[in-house]
Amino acid sequence: MGKKAIDPVCEMEVDVDDPPATSEHEGKTYYFCAPGCKKRFEENPEKFLEN
Ligand SMILES: [Zn+2]
Repeated sequence: MGKKAIDPVCEMEVDVDDPPATSEHEGKTYYFCAPGCKKRFEENPEKFLEN
């Protein structure tokens, strides 16, 4: 099994070895279940990273 990451937009698990979409933000790589989630993240990253 490959490593999993959590899509910060919809909180789905994403396979790190074969991600549908990725984005770099402040030196960190984020993984997304679909290009639509990546797009939403890049429009407003802080909204999805504040916890
Ligand atoms: Zn998603």
